[in-house]
Amino acid sequence: MSSSYADGLSPYENKGVLGLEERYDSVETLRLKCGLLAEWIQGARHVVVHTGAGISTAAGIPDFRGTNGVWTLEQKGLKPTMSISFDEAIPTKTHMALKKLIEAKKVKFIISQNIDGLHLRSGIQRQHLAELHGNMFTEQCDKCGRQFIRNFATKSVGKKSLDTVCRSEQIGGRPCRGRMHDTILDWEHNLPDNDLSLSDLHSSVADLSICLGTTLQIIPSGNLPLYTKKYGGRLVICNLQPTKHDKKADLIVNGNVDEIIVAVMKKLGVEIPEYESSMDPTRNSDTTAKEMDWTIPMSRIKEMNVLYKKVCKPMRRKRKTFMYERERTDTKRETKARKQAFGAVKQEIKTEDNISTSSEMCKTEEDHLVASNPAKIEESAEDIEMCRFTVEDTTTTGRDTDTKLSETV
Ligand SMILES: [Zn+2]
Repeated sequence: MSSSYADGLSPYENKGVLGLEERYDSVETLRLKCGLLAEWIQGARHVVVHTGAGISTAAGIPDFRGTNGVWTLEQKGLKPTMSISFDEAIPTKTHMALKKLIEAKKVKFIISQNIDGLHLRSGIQRQHLAELHGNMFTEQCDKCGRQFIRNFATKSVGKKSLDTVCRSEQIGGRPCRGRMHDTILDWEHNLPDNDLSLSDLHSSVADLSICLGTTLQIIPSGNLPLYTKKYGGRLVICNLQPTKHDKKADLIVNGNVDEIIVAVMKKLGVEIPEYESSMDPTRNSDTTAKEMDWTIPMSRIKEMNVLYKKVCKPMRRKRKTFMYERERTDTKRETKARKQAFGAVKQEIKTEDNISTSSEMCKTEEDHLVASNPAKIEESAEDIEMCRFTVEDTTTTGRDTDTKLSETV
């Protein structure tokens, strides 16, 4: 479980802000926000989901910074009372819903900080998942770098040697005499290159980033959703506690992640499948089957690079032009009148920019062209102002604490 994983890591003092008070939106607010989120997913062209330990607590795996999190309790000299092994845990409703949304082409990519392997075990394909901090159910060759799925969780953490050898040849690759090590990062390790590249590219290309069950304190993982904002996309944060980037979010949903996802899926009209061990590759007894290869295909990174150049580079130019035009307008007006005019125009541009961005980016998206409905987006923009106001109005504590959240790692 998480505490045994945490115990295996080197001592590290700065674990971020721990045990912040949990908040719950009222039933009606939650309903409205989930409806809006579903609408945004429906209208988006490229959705990326960022997941943290909060999506696995329903599976019996404690989180780290929650009110009963491993590190929150550690600070008080306590240990979590819940106890389930990584091998016993099974994917939650959220894991299964995300798998289904990928299949339905409503979500393009999942970026996870979790090491519990539950995304993999939901049956998701490798090309749709980045595991930035490793996975207890995978091992990597120290020679060829290939990754393979294991039948049971590794006992070690921190990229330590295992007693297994490379399976490259058995799964149709080149012969390799390398030995395997676990893929779990310790504090001093760099993030896996290919997982990080795909995460950077997808987060930049996305027009909607949804964060589930993470306080976004660990970097660089916690900053990836901001790339979506940088290129004109939307940021949605679903968490029980305040997060480091709440102020930058277009929508904050405070509630239980499974409940949020169930409501969103209902609104989308997509059924959440049950977990089936036959779909779980860690339950595959044939460890040399092709499906046990968990290496990110380089072709996928190349494809994403092409998409990034098409989608994000024109966006950069557009941002510069907009800034220049705004400055030129400013020089012609009196200070007071200028402020008033700019305030009104800014609102309009904000809405129009979202619409034109979405439609322009649709033209460049290669594999999944869902044209956004401008009318729908305009409506949503109005709704969201209302939701944001509600959140900000009722979360003054969070806004104060937000400034205190420090970057971890
Ligand atoms: Zn190898």
